[in-house]
Amino acid sequence: MPRKLAAGNWKMNGVKASLGEIRILAETHAGSDVDILICPPATLVAQAADIEGNIRIGGQDCHANKSGAHTGDTSAEMLADCGANYVIVGHSERRTDHSETSEQVHDKALAAWDAGLIAVICIGETLDEREKGETNQVLAKQLAGSVPIGALAANTVVAYEPVWAIGTGKIPSFDEIAQAHSFIRGFLASQNETSEAHGMSLLYGGSVKPSNASDIFALNNVDGALVGGASLKAKDFTAIITALEAST
Ligand code: PEP
Repeated sequence: MPRKLAAGNWKMNGVKASLGEIRILAETHAGSDVDILICPPATLVAQAADIEGNIRIGGQDCHANKSGAHTGDTSAEMLADCGANYVIVGHSERRTDHSETSEQVHDKALAAWDAGLIAVICIGETLDEREKGETNQVLAKQLAGSVPIGALAANTVVAYEPVWAIGTGKIPSFDEIAQAHSFIRGFLASQNETSEAHGMSLLYGGSVKPSNASDIFALNNVDGALVGGASLKAKDFTAIITALEAST
């Protein structure tokens, strides 16, 4: 069975005072049977990882190289050294703002594995692609290009994030989410001769909120969520985590 995971992506939000939100989550969900992850900005990873409790910490991106002349970048090894367990790669904001290709995302995922991190690999279609009926085609291309051979349930999480649903308050219909997740599970299984694809956690991301989380978590092949805005405050994220806990 895939592990249930509630992952928060703080994006470029958060200063030292925001670490209190993680402390509240750690206290509130001390005995949780789901995995809880916060990906704060790189500036807070080390301090976040020092907070006692069961909240896992991740980076929001990593460079494909271990070290070198890459001003402003952070390597997977550096994140691991700070106490991170996960790193998001291929978020649509990186694919758009930094023109990241699936090939680069693939190499970042390999770097994450090398550093002992779990790679949260993001994929998702634009609104234009969905309206043209190209969703499955886009997802297949991104999966084939971004998920390295050798992906295991223990080192990879796939997040389906329709680009048009991120930060917009809009989400696909529940049927559309279930269809996309079933397609992703089937595609990963077709690429992978072991049963790993069936044990890999598949997250939905895009405007997940306390009000829609239970319905989303009830869908087949949805093992959790990657949450942006609603992960910034412990109160909102707790409601989403509680919905995931209730879905197990
Ligand atoms: C995200 O940042 O991955 C995301 C899904 O953002 P939001 O929940 O704010 O739509």
